[in-house]
Amino acid sequence: MKKVCKNSAPVFVLIAFFLFLLMPMQSWAAPAKNVILLMTDGTSSTHITLTRWYKGSPLALDDILVGGIRTYSAESIITDSAPAATAFATGHKTNSKFIGILPEKTTVPGVSAIIEADQFKPVATVLEGTKLLGKSVGLVATSQVQHASPAGFSAHTPFRDQYTQIAKQQVYENIDVVFGGGMQYMLPKTSGGIREDETNLIKVLKERGFPLLTSREELLAFNGRKAWGLFAPDALQFDFDRKDLAPREPSLAEMTGKAIETLSKNEKGFFLFVEASKVDWAAHANDPIGVISDLLAYDDAVRVALDFAKKDGQTLVMAFADHGTGGMAIGNKEFYKIYDKLPYETVLGPLKKATYTGEGMDRILGENRSEFNIRVQMMQNYAVDDLTALEIATIQTAPRQRAFATVIGPMLSKRAAIGWIYTGHTGEDLFLYAFGPNKPAGLIQNTDIAKITAISLGFDLAETDHKLFVDAAAAFAAFGATTHFDNSDKLNPILIVSKGIHQAILPIDANLLLVGKTSHMLPGIVVQIPKSGKVFVPQKAVDLLKEAGW
Ligand SMILES: [Zn+2]
Repeated sequence: MKKVCKNSAPVFVLIAFFLFLLMPMQSWAAPAKNVILLMTDGTSSTHITLTRWYKGSPLALDDILVGGIRTYSAESIITDSAPAATAFATGHKTNSKFIGILPEKTTVPGVSAIIEADQFKPVATVLEGTKLLGKSVGLVATSQVQHASPAGFSAHTPFRDQYTQIAKQQVYENIDVVFGGGMQYMLPKTSGGIREDETNLIKVLKERGFPLLTSREELLAFNGRKAWGLFAPDALQFDFDRKDLAPREPSLAEMTGKAIETLSKNEKGFFLFVEASKVDWAAHANDPIGVISDLLAYDDAVRVALDFAKKDGQTLVMAFADHGTGGMAIGNKEFYKIYDKLPYETVLGPLKKATYTGEGMDRILGENRSEFNIRVQMMQNYAVDDLTALEIATIQTAPRQRAFATVIGPMLSKRAAIGWIYTGHTGEDLFLYAFGPNKPAGLIQNTDIAKITAISLGFDLAETDHKLFVDAAAAFAAFGATTHFDNSDKLNPILIVSKGIHQAILPIDANLLLVGKTSHMLPGIVVQIPKSGKVFVPQKAVDLLKEAGW
């Protein structure tokens, strides 16, 4: 035996060597040409179970269930949407409200400690990494596109609510397709928006060759290679309310289909992130109709992505949620004594009779909050004919618009044997769905979504960090240049780089390097982190000045 092994060793070495020669072609080819991520915000398995019962047949999701996903952030077992989106987009767990930057502190067991030099440091997203490959990239959401989840893929800030700043960063990221709501964050007050500065981001988009689509008709007729579609000043309507109350808005499936059609014109491939944003909002309000409305719309969008992936054969689709919301239960205290004899009709009957979500009902009732109108509308649109005097009074004094759902949702839940723990997020593991090349299986981390996406498309996230976010002060000092942060125009701060007679300007939140009258477009945006004051720039900005003989 010993002898055989000895003699065959050189043969094995030779075979291994030839295999090694053959390897590069195989191992360096990216497993997938395209990646589509579809996320439903604030959705646990109960939300999905209830939606399947409502639909009465399997969901598109059911065919591609592959495992589970762990959701905690760097500082809490229950995550906020911003660190969750950062995990999915960058592969790093971070703090509450943080978008695309490393944490300030980590407290959850198992999350690596953060060294002081890395606190708040911007990190590359899979959208940014894909863009560097020459592929096309897109974002679709039913909230304003500046909201936490889409922002996690396209912005870098410790403040998730800074929608006007996030809007600016997204515009200068040169994202090929952006569809959703949020027009008001793009325009100055003088042009009907809410921006405090005079920057008109729609004008910037048009100068950069992006057509602006503002209605469902324009979206469906669009035939180009890149576009922004903003169909509402803020978030879009819930899907159940959309057809009657906002017929000019497209569905999530329509936006997803058009995004795929547009992005797939790039022969190199694409990355797309799609979010059903408002399932979370409905769950915060404990409104089961809002949950069902937008989960059905989400499932339609998943079907659109799957249909493309099945035909294409080179597309990885992953679908997941960022956290649970509300702690929804099928079963509530009212039905404790008969839960094991609960007829289907008891749960689904009241839900199926509801025409609008809680938010939609606010608009149906309008200004007329008389007892008569409330009884008529609740009968017509919810088949509820047993409102108590207390319920009438509660509706009459309820907060308006989105918050109105917090009153209607619980009234319907009570009648349909739906329970809720509270109105916040929850920390359980969630379902993971996937289809296509390199699909994951088993229980994974939210951060694995970014890692799998990057590996599948053939790039390295850490390498992308080095290309897109270098510490400006240190990088320019290395060749004798100095930097000065100038925020005399508080709404449009700049970084000034100087060396001898030379001077260059890097506007914060934009992808520009201005030298004299020349404006260079950078492959990524310039980011200033407010707390540390540090400015991060793409390596290209440093290289350009070196090449210019600085
Ligand atoms: Zn939420």
